[in-house]
Amino acid sequence: AQQTDSSKEKLNVELKQKQENMQASDSLKAMNSFRENLPAFKMKSTFLKAVQENQVLVVSGETGCGKTTQLPQFILEEEILCLRGATCNIICTQPRRISAISVAARISAERGESLGETVGYQIRLEAKCSAQTRLLFCTTGVLLRQLVQDPELTGVSHLLVDEIHERGMNEDFLLIILRDLLPRRPDLRLILMSATINADMFSKYFANAPMIHIPGFTFPVTEFFLEDVLEKTRYNIKSEFDNYEGNSSRRRKQQVSKKDPLTELFEDIDIDAHYKNYSTAARKSLEAWSGSKMDLGLVEAAIEYICRNEGDGAILVFLTGWEEISKLFDTIKANNFLGDPSKFLVLPLHGSMPTINQCEIFDRPPLNKRKIVLATNIAESSITIDDVVHVIDCGKAKETSYDALNKLACLLPSWISKASAHQRCGRAGRVQPGVCYRLYPKVIHDEMLEYQLPEILRTPLQELCLQIKSLQLGTVGSFLAKALQPPDPLAVQNAIELLKTIGALDDKEELTPLGRHLCTIPLDPNIGKMLLMGSIFQCLNPALTIAAALAYRDPFVLPLNRKEEADAAKRSFAGDSCSDHIALLKAFEGWKDAKRSGREREFCWDNFLSPVTLQLIDEMRIQFLNLLSDIGFVDKSRGIHAYNQYARDLEMVCAILCAGLYPNVVQCKRRGKRTAFYTKEVGKVDIHPASVNAGIHLFPLPYMVYSEKVKTTSIYIRDSTNISDYALLLFGGSLIPSKSGEGIEMLGGYLHFSASKSVIELIKKLRGELYKLLNR
Ligand code: ADP
Ligand code: MG
Repeated sequence: AQQTDSSKEKLNVELKQKQENMQASDSLKAMNSFRENLPAFKMKSTFLKAVQENQVLVVSGETGCGKTTQLPQFILEEEILCLRGATCNIICTQPRRISAISVAARISAERGESLGETVGYQIRLEAKCSAQTRLLFCTTGVLLRQLVQDPELTGVSHLLVDEIHERGMNEDFLLIILRDLLPRRPDLRLILMSATINADMFSKYFANAPMIHIPGFTFPVTEFFLEDVLEKTRYNIKSEFDNYEGNSSRRRKQQVSKKDPLTELFEDIDIDAHYKNYSTAARKSLEAWSGSKMDLGLVEAAIEYICRNEGDGAILVFLTGWEEISKLFDTIKANNFLGDPSKFLVLPLHGSMPTINQCEIFDRPPLNKRKIVLATNIAESSITIDDVVHVIDCGKAKETSYDALNKLACLLPSWISKASAHQRCGRAGRVQPGVCYRLYPKVIHDEMLEYQLPEILRTPLQELCLQIKSLQLGTVGSFLAKALQPPDPLAVQNAIELLKTIGALDDKEELTPLGRHLCTIPLDPNIGKMLLMGSIFQCLNPALTIAAALAYRDPFVLPLNRKEEADAAKRSFAGDSCSDHIALLKAFEGWKDAKRSGREREFCWDNFLSPVTLQLIDEMRIQFLNLLSDIGFVDKSRGIHAYNQYARDLEMVCAILCAGLYPNVVQCKRRGKRTAFYTKEVGKVDIHPASVNAGIHLFPLPYMVYSEKVKTTSIYIRDSTNISDYALLLFGGSLIPSKSGEGIEMLGGYLHFSASKSVIELIKKLRGELYKLLNR
């Protein structure tokens, strides 16, 4: 032990020497002066003193002031300086993978090292760090999983939790755990970092922990609303408004002669103003106007206006998701409205992009080129691009919501909060006075919520419940009651019920062996179960592909004006399977073949597929395979074909889908020449128009499993597969004898199957064997 002590001491001295040499070297001159100009730099000594003197510290500051890149680095430098370099262990959590990577890379560059030396990162299924790493950036999810192995966070000296103002579910969850852990780890330092929103709420949560505010510098930003933008750009809103049905404006529109839709829109608001419910009515009609999709034409008009009339400077466009980003990206690239595309450096920025091209995003563009960044709300606070002068804000973000009563999860673009709008606007004033073009009317802004609802109140909780169980944090309900804003008990109860239904929890709410496997798979428990079943039933390839697409995103793109062709392409992949999942599987397999023969581009183009998404799905497949191998469900030495004997058997694939997607089941009931669909929770539902099953009137099999239920204009099931009662009986959730004794029931009695005693016995036996395999 003495020897290791002395070697540690030696290492401490070496690290200090190395750091001092590096900081004095010419190569870091520019970097150092950049760092010294950040607002965080002025607070360095105040910050370090506060860290030393307090166990918990809340730091707030305008986005871009240097919290993420500087504060963890200050601690690291100080530890090395004080000869604790060899023993300190600093962890900083990030809500998103992409920021964990980008920040770790940036700090390594600022220190003149390569990534993975002193500073590294670890995200789900991917890491770049080494034994030398002293400052690790990881996603909050990774830290939560580390807590399973090591609930005391042994050896961690400093923990920084970043972007807590976003109120992500993982962050809120982590804070509960940490608040309980702190008394047991008096030497652990906890630093909470937040944008300027609501910092005192976190301080209160941690027994009035001290707060530090980093005053920022930003230039004034001029704000325009839709009214002004329309005047400037002379753009005509029509399509979405024309499509809208169901509120007063439509009825009125039928009476009023054809008018400019915008005039009509504002007329509506005025008319509604005479009613008591002014604000709700105004909001409704406006929500209707913008529908669930953005009017990209308006975004294009705004970009064009800036390029033609305004000064230099990068343009940052906030959009809701990948679909819009890639559409707009293509339009600009295709020389459709801006003229010569070589004059523009168009860069997409999206949270699920594998990595971001550091230089392109952060650096000044080449001379005579204008940088246009198309981003989701990731550019709102976690990634700062300094040279942005013009911000175009669509005012929306994809937001999940959860309706506990109907067990309905939605992911829909919805209006952002005032706090987010302010944040987006501020992105324009980093280096000089800027302009923000808000593509929504002022009335909408006035109606926006102050803050967004925390995620824990808007999401199904099954993954969280599973984590609480595997971390042995007691009963789910009483644990979650300690949250900053505790979730609805009904949502908790639904989650537990679901976990029991899929066999992850037993009657006493304890983890089953299957539940334990599912905890180690960092995916939605249903998708995890699909993977396990795929490996057991020799359908591994299809299970990997479908699980990856469900966990990530649909590879089918929806082109605006060639929707029918796109639908036809998807249907031809489905063949007569009546399954969106099979269509997806066949599309993926087709892409693999096309890639092998060098026809990838045409194949994707002809079939309306996104090559980027397919590539990522392919990569995720490999990661999932490794996971299955880690928990012993796949023995790689046997070769993957050993797990694919039934991979081409579509009935088998459908059965695996049933096992994974249960209890998402609908009954198909024949109504004359058509079929109606019923779920247990909400009754009648419709097939989503984008589904291959949308045009089919009668189905060969009596049930449908689906990936999700969404509520837009009506309740739709998205991505469905027609399945037989045998699949359901053998692979679905638990069975109960029916009251009459002449059959069995599922889904709490919602589904009834009549069968003779001996058949029932047989089914029970088979299921028993199956559960033995899953729970091994
Ligand atoms: P905060 O966390 O307070 O929002 P950051 O520490 O992320 O601020 O950023 C501080 C500054 O460093 C910003 O001006 C930002 O533009 C710059 N920066 C951050 N990451 C990079 C990077 N990868 N490359 C270049 N500049 C970066
Ligand atoms: Mg930050």
